[in-house]
Amino acid sequence: MATVDQQTTVLKNYINGEWIESTSSQTQEVINPADRSVLALVPISTKEDVEQAVASAKEAFKTWRTTPSPKRARVMFEFHHLLTKEHEKLAQLIVQENGKAFKEAYGEVQRGIECVEFAAGAPTLLMGESLNNIAEEIDSEMYRYPVGVVGGITPFNFPMMVPLWMFPLAVACGNTFVLKPSERTPLLANRLAELFTQAGAPNGVLNVVHGAHDVVNGLLQHQDVKAISFVGSQPVAKYVYEEAASKGKRVQALSGAKNHHIVMPDCNLDHAVQHVLSSAYGSAGQRCMACSAVVLVGDVGDTFVQKLKQKADELTIGDGMDDEVLLTAVIREQHRAKAVQYIEKGIEEGAVLVRDGRPEMEQMSDGNFLGATVFDHVEPHMTIAKEEIFAPVLSLLRAENLDQALEYIEKSPFGNGATIYTKDAKAIRQFREEADAGMLGVNVGVPATMAFFPFSGWKNSFYGDLHVNGKDGLNFYTRKKMITTRFDF
Ligand code: NAD
Repeated sequence: MATVDQQTTVLKNYINGEWIESTSSQTQEVINPADRSVLALVPISTKEDVEQAVASAKEAFKTWRTTPSPKRARVMFEFHHLLTKEHEKLAQLIVQENGKAFKEAYGEVQRGIECVEFAAGAPTLLMGESLNNIAEEIDSEMYRYPVGVVGGITPFNFPMMVPLWMFPLAVACGNTFVLKPSERTPLLANRLAELFTQAGAPNGVLNVVHGAHDVVNGLLQHQDVKAISFVGSQPVAKYVYEEAASKGKRVQALSGAKNHHIVMPDCNLDHAVQHVLSSAYGSAGQRCMACSAVVLVGDVGDTFVQKLKQKADELTIGDGMDDEVLLTAVIREQHRAKAVQYIEKGIEEGAVLVRDGRPEMEQMSDGNFLGATVFDHVEPHMTIAKEEIFAPVLSLLRAENLDQALEYIEKSPFGNGATIYTKDAKAIRQFREEADAGMLGVNVGVPATMAFFPFSGWKNSFYGDLHVNGKDGLNFYTRKKMITTRFDF
């Protein structure tokens, strides 16, 4: 257990342009996963704090909604400038609170900045549609309007990118926002709020309330919150979707994943091994687009396993600030303990443990480390094949042909991403047409989409209709109004 210094900062909420102490005295430690040092204390805020934040956002909405869109876009340009200037520092902050490697964190900041770039196109994005002469001397026009106060609830694994999937576009569309970041990685959110204000966002346009369930429920139940953007684990996503929808809100809830990578016999095997390795073990397997199951097709299996094991043996584990490191710590000790339970379950259910990450865990006990773990001959019915582990534990399945590999994907309850490694055009086409997932990669290890496309999970990986980012994001954060005008009066 880490010791807490009396001087350790208790984070404040950001409401109506001011840093305000939570009304709750309950706090949780924010821990650096690599060495378990305490970075800060995060308040577990109350519904009263949510009440204040929503009131501030509601008030700000009165003027922000009619602020000309080019003026709103200029805030995004300035925000972009500030984020770019602070790229490296933001990445360091991510490494501290999340534990991922600096290179990954740097890439995450870049992905976030790209969302701001997209939002800066608001005047063009917000253009409506019109058609003259829909009947004799009658014209029709469609205008877009903001929805109102939007609540955003985010996970620990992308403390910068996921909030930036949400509030820049929402705000550029004229909405105001209350962000509830993960209580495990709250530091980035506060810095983003500071920079957003510095960029010219008026008071109340972006508010941050730290905490856990009470804040989430406060947002879900508040009648003045008109839309909810959520990203997190599957049970919570389902709960948030059902609860928000039952209160008449729009909701997009991005959820858990089990991403399959199909390795075809004709592929460039070294390329496939390298991409599987960094997809499965980068960010300690804590990416919603991480490869967590590999389907080895035909006779490619044994060679792949041998090469993968060799590469996994060579991986450097450690602190994300060390340049050599690929495999970093998982977010909390409890999370690692859960991953160990999955390893035990895999053994119990009869999968073959090709590489065990637990000895490295024992050796590196100062942080939440777990070595690269590989199970071979995993069957689709086994727990480790079906459930999201969200740690460096990889399952290898065997399939006779592409049809069977695609069947495994179809049977998975999740459908976030899937990848195929092959040079065969026919296989690529069949994979594109039949893979039952929303974001596909062809010879690409992490086929996450860019800010101008929807982040498009399927099945239990997403609850809602309109995804985040791209035109889906625009449609989610705007309401359409139609006007039909007769001119022969
Ligand atoms: P999580 O579900 O534990 O937490 C997400 C948010 O929900 C946090 O802000 C948390 O405070 C809140 N929360 C947690 N439990 C709650 C409850 N019972 N009631 C109300 N609110 C609750 O998720 P996490 O561990 O922070 O993040 C990892 C998960 O997020 C993984 O499952 C991952 O696949 C998923 N994820 C998905 C995507 C995607 O695009 N589909 C992207 C990133 C992460």
